[in-house]
Amino acid sequence: MATTKERRPAIEGWFTTGNATTGDTGDGGVRLLGTRCSSCGTPYFPRNELACRNPGCTGPKDGSELEPYALSGRGRVWSYADSRYKPPPPYVSPDPFVPYTVAAVELEAERMVVLGMVAPGTTVDDLEVGMEVELTEGVLYEDDEAEYTVWMWRPLR
Ligand SMILES: [Zn+2]
Repeated sequence: MATTKERRPAIEGWFTTGNATTGDTGDGGVRLLGTRCSSCGTPYFPRNELACRNPGCTGPKDGSELEPYALSGRGRVWSYADSRYKPPPPYVSPDPFVPYTVAAVELEAERMVVLGMVAPGTTVDDLEVGMEVELTEGVLYEDDEAEYTVWMWRPLR
């Protein structure tokens, strides 16, 4: 009998799929969850909850407020590579290891470069620098209980 396993984020709180448990983006899309300086608007991913690092920040010198912020879900490929070797722990990968593609993507609005796996089925032959991609959710690994997911990039068709 086929059963549907529960899906859980491999790392809690780093992205949302648009459901209200981790932060509703309103558009139903996958978004990375970071923080943003409430004074100068500088975005941070992964989350920065200590102090704004922008030397030109106009906020209070004793530390600006950093508020939760969902980053843009689209960007353009800045660089990409094939990963043909199993990464060392603490990275968790499927067993047996399946080669995958990674891409560094410059986010549309924030102009930040974020690294991520590329959705299965897309290889380095399908990618080029400058190509527009969007975030999706994909399975990183699974056990008897659940599928563990991460954000992945996929080309916009
Ligand atoms: Zn700031």
